[in-house]
Amino acid sequence: MPDIAAWNKCDNRCVMCTNMSSFSAQDSAQYRLKGQVEKLERYLRGARVYGKNADRADYVSLTGGEPTLHPEFFQLLNYFRRRLPGTPITLLSNGRRFADRRFASRFAAAARPPFAAAIALHGPAPRVHDAVAGVRGAFAQTVRGIKNLLELAPDLGLEIRIVLHGKSVAAFPRTLAFLLKKFPDTARYCLSVVHYEIEGMSDKNHRQVGLKFSASSAALRGATPLLKKFRNPRLYHFPVCQVSAELRPLCRVTLPREERIYPPVCRGCAARRKCLGLMLEYYKKFGDAELRPVKR
Ligand code: SF4
Repeated sequence: MPDIAAWNKCDNRCVMCTNMSSFSAQDSAQYRLKGQVEKLERYLRGARVYGKNADRADYVSLTGGEPTLHPEFFQLLNYFRRRLPGTPITLLSNGRRFADRRFASRFAAAARPPFAAAIALHGPAPRVHDAVAGVRGAFAQTVRGIKNLLELAPDLGLEIRIVLHGKSVAAFPRTLAFLLKKFPDTARYCLSVVHYEIEGMSDKNHRQVGLKFSASSAALRGATPLLKKFRNPRLYHFPVCQVSAELRPLCRVTLPREERIYPPVCRGCAARRKCLGLMLEYYKKFGDAELRPVKR
């Protein structure tokens, strides 16, 4: 199943957002429940109506914008759950609306398994998180949202995502330490550390957010003792050769094939089968000089 843009508006203005501002400027009418139903029904009859990950049949990602701002959010969730029974659904969210306990409770009831929420945390404190999210007060709401979901939605798969880029990487060890202190039961959620994608606003804001793998993998290396305290950490978008040998099993192949490249230097690499390669846009921006084929 593909990524489905559930709603095009957002209440954050994240500096590394992969959408362009033109996306949120669109008329939202096409994202209302009626349009979403028509689109999914056409998809289920075999039409190619979605873009990203269109060929994946094993999961659905509900993206945005911020899906929880959808005016018919719960009807939409109920519809997707009913029409896709048994298919894992992941909701990508900034988590702020879950700061409202009533909203979080309704969500817990509607998000029947297999269902996960992936919530992005940008830093260990408002000074870092709110500067990335572009909204004062976002940190407090996101953290309260995570807390509410942990308390109210025991059947939900909860993923906390830290996206590494130029404005978040320095605080990375402190963000991990914050999570371990605030949410110490790491069996209740999984942690994903994501190297940012160069797309949309993150491309436009390249001077602020630009980050090479040499820098993000150094941050991973320095924070390895903290990372190992999490029960189920994962690394997204990292080429295997860019992380230390002990962290390599955490790497996941996370992007569709058309968004990745194995430059000639990857030929003969022993890790290639389990490696994402390079993100295409990263390759265009930074080249492949950092890659070091893994020997057997
Ligand atoms: S050399 Fe290429 S295939 Fe090998 S680990 Fe690095 S990016 Fe992956």
